[in-house]
Amino acid sequence: MSFATKQRLLLGLAVIMMLVPTIFYSAGLLGRAPLFEGDTRKEMTCITCDGLGRTGKEESCPSCRGRGVADFIIPGPNRPVQLVGTVKDSAGQPVKGAEVRARQAEGDQTEVLLESNQDGQFGIKLPPGAYVISVAVEGKGSVSESLLIEPQTEPIPARGAETLHKFEKEFLLAK
Ligand SMILES: [Zn+2]
Repeated sequence: MSFATKQRLLLGLAVIMMLVPTIFYSAGLLGRAPLFEGDTRKEMTCITCDGLGRTGKEESCPSCRGRGVADFIIPGPNRPVQLVGTVKDSAGQPVKGAEVRARQAEGDQTEVLLESNQDGQFGIKLPPGAYVISVAVEGKGSVSESLLIEPQTEPIPARGAETLHKFEKEFLLAK
């Protein structure tokens, strides 16, 4: 095998390697959002960029990658919502290491234990329903809140970093 042939083979290989993510992408194998019972998936005009293909100055739209159309998930009644809670003390400062307990308000009341991070935040995926979230911090107080997570109907990009609707809530500790 001549040097030139070897070089051409290597170049060919490099091109194929570069194409691999594209092939996976078009086959839908990368970053595919999970589907939940009742969800439907359909190709529609991109809602992130309004079908323009870009969101800012010459920036390719992350949801449709510049195509203007993309696969979206139409949420079903069971698609979970990402609860992002922030624990704050009476002075309004985020509290790290808070003990968080989440349970359904009715039925199976098994508790899920969580802890707030250094920004005072915690996250949990909750299917639509009624919940009770209890937060306690030694010496700083506690709070218990009832939460109703409603099913979300807004379409969500089928591929992307965020594939669940977010529900943000603050938990203010009281002594
Ligand atoms: Zn788009």
